[in-house]
Amino acid sequence: RAYNFNAGPAALPLTVLERAQAEFVDFRESGMSIMEMSHRGAIYESVHNEAQERLLSLLGNPKGYKVLFVQGGASTQFAMIPMNLISEGQVGSYVMTGSWADKAFKEAKLVGGAHVAASSEDKKFVAIPELSSIKAADNAAYLHVTSNETIEGTQFAEFPDAGSIPLIADMSSDILCRPIDVNQFGMIYAGAQKNLGPSGVTVVIAKEELLAESPSNIPTIMRYSTHYKNNSLYNTPPSFSVYMVNEVLKWIEEQGGLAGIQSKNLEKAGLLYDHIDGSDGFYSGVAEKSSRSIMNVTFRMQSEELEKRFVKAAELEGFVGLKGHRSVGGLRASIYNAVPYESVKALSDFMNHFRQTQG
Ligand code: PLP
Repeated sequence: RAYNFNAGPAALPLTVLERAQAEFVDFRESGMSIMEMSHRGAIYESVHNEAQERLLSLLGNPKGYKVLFVQGGASTQFAMIPMNLISEGQVGSYVMTGSWADKAFKEAKLVGGAHVAASSEDKKFVAIPELSSIKAADNAAYLHVTSNETIEGTQFAEFPDAGSIPLIADMSSDILCRPIDVNQFGMIYAGAQKNLGPSGVTVVIAKEELLAESPSNIPTIMRYSTHYKNNSLYNTPPSFSVYMVNEVLKWIEEQGGLAGIQSKNLEKAGLLYDHIDGSDGFYSGVAEKSSRSIMNVTFRMQSEELEKRFVKAAELEGFVGLKGHRSVGGLRASIYNAVPYESVKALSDFMNHFRQTQG
């Protein structure tokens, strides 16, 4: 297997892939693959419901929350959130932390109205704004944060208090990487393709009161209430992706739940950041230390030429996905839940070797 540091779609646990392989052709002795089954049948529905229950269970079974499985990626949520939640005269307040926050903000601007609650643009998004500087607008329908900026490599260590309005978090690139208190949030959403499974399904975990009633002047499929009232079976769900999410969730349980996953993630991120910090400037971290992501480790070298050589040499050794996002350059190792410690150790050894030979 490759050392897969892709930012998304990203590595999946090997045991999950193997389990899926074993039941790929004949699921639960049905004589069919799960992707050939009716989504209205008992077998698929049991998987669908199990995945929802398992997700809530991993999150501590918060009361009054519902899980939706929708399509269109997190990018569709950028539009659905303002379409559903902003009323006449209101805006969405956004914490501007980087590329993904900006995309979410721009959609809200098109649909309802958007306000900047705080921004780290003056720091080129290498830090998360101070929590005390985050102020939602008086007419805000919600406060939106991007818990982990996949491109810049920053992550909220703690979340702002949104007061009486819902706090909404795009957790596409760090969902289930650590324990969180779901009760702080009105809504959490994430495209599956980093920490949850394959692409094709987007998970929304929200307080039922935000989902139960939606404006009737938006298309049916774009209303949260449509998915809520139909248990995410209004139309054909991405059934194979949902099944895979359920398998990934089982795997997370086997890792000791979110506390177990967090300690492994801290170990992996610590290894890389310690290496970067101890490299006498040969490698340098992009994000400020207090805002560093444990999912996307972004770093630079002294020249772009050296970075190119690094990526090339790494590829020859079986390392995939280390080039930084095209919008910011540099290097990035995405070390999501499923990336094994051994891969990260191999990368750290490779970085060491590269420094010894090229430095
Ligand atoms: N939000 C974050 C933080 C992301 O990292 C990404 C994708 O990388 C997205 C949103 C967009 O997700 P999707 O491709 O599912 O629309």
